Amino acid sequence: MVTQYKCSNCGDNMVYDTISGALKCHSCGREDNIEQMARQHNLDDSLDGMNKEDKEAALKSFNKDYSDPFNEDEPSSHSTFVEDEVAEYNCNNCGANIITDKQTTATKCSFCGAAVVLSDRLTGNLAPSYVIPFMISKSQAQEAFKKWCKKGLLTPNDFRVADRIKDITGLYVPFWLFDLNGKGEVKATCTRVRTYTRGDWIYTETKYYHVYRKVDLNYKRIPCDASKKMDDKMMDRLEPYSYARLNSFEMPYLAGYIAEKYDFTDQELLPRVKTRANSYIDSYIRSTITGYSSVQINSKNINIRNRKADYTLLPVWLVCYDYNQAEHNFVMNGQTGKIIGRPPISRAKIATWLLGISGLSFLLLRLITFFLGGDFLW
Ligand SMILES: [Zn+2]
Ligand SMILES: [Zn+2]
Repeated sequence: MVTQYKCSNCGDNMVYDTISGALKCHSCGREDNIEQMARQHNLDDSLDGMNKEDKEAALKSFNKDYSDPFNEDEPSSHSTFVEDEVAEYNCNNCGANIITDKQTTATKCSFCGAAVVLSDRLTGNLAPSYVIPFMISKSQAQEAFKKWCKKGLLTPNDFRVADRIKDITGLYVPFWLFDLNGKGEVKATCTRVRTYTRGDWIYTETKYYHVYRKVDLNYKRIPCDASKKMDDKMMDRLEPYSYARLNSFEMPYLAGYIAEKYDFTDQELLPRVKTRANSYIDSYIRSTITGYSSVQINSKNINIRNRKADYTLLPVWLVCYDYNQAEHNFVMNGQTGKIIGRPPISRAKIATWLLGISGLSFLLLRLITFFLGGDFLW
């Protein structure tokens, strides 16, 4: 099923607007409040008892007490996607066939440009729980990219001047937000060493301590990207997102953007997010063992269990650009404007710059050239 948002004033296509946070018609300026639309929509759906039960169950699990004694992961409440999708989509506007890949949930009609939301890929068990809408508009992202190209003393001149944007995409990337509980137990032997002088003697006194730490920590909404296309490290570096603007998912937020559904289930990503939480718990425990001359960990036991994972769409601006006959990506957090990646560096500029500094050894220059020899864009 295809959902398109038509202006009730003039009939033109409406898209999500980052400034007003509403669905907007760019022809006549009409704005529709998305939450109000959702309330109306829910009223229309109120006969459908399933939906309500699902919502109540979701609310119940959200409010569940986190101090229960079990050590097992909660089973996933999400169904996996059906693989064989033969559904054909046609634009309501112009009737053209909409060409999408299996993962697409929102796109634009390639003939008339109208925003298209593939609603059957976003409802029922396939519905995301939350969305953070775009706060950075397309023109702001373009501006930021241009500025970024000019940034840096070492950026090649030809890179700074040209308009390089090949393609700019506002993409809702599928994420899982994990709620985890971590229990940790650490036994350590620590020492405190004191040196003092009495008479002609210097004494060294070593006191030994048995140190025991037991922690029970809850982590809420650790993000983990569920898209094959997006580089994991890059997505991690786009954090943090502000959850103050974490909205209940509504389809109109996607109008005018590209959205995809997840490639990896929450179960598949669990090991990755557990590794991450493990390092948090480990460093938290270590931060509580202070004031000793030495710390030797004798035993460490960390158990992490998954409490809940929410399917969430997070906004990312993606700019594809050409440089030196290769395609590169510029990635920006669509909520905060945080940019990942550095512009290319001119080796000639570096050499000139380094030669200008006296006393710098040839070896260092060689080393830097060596390190920059590879792909230093990321
Ligand atoms: Zn209108
Ligand atoms: Zn069309």
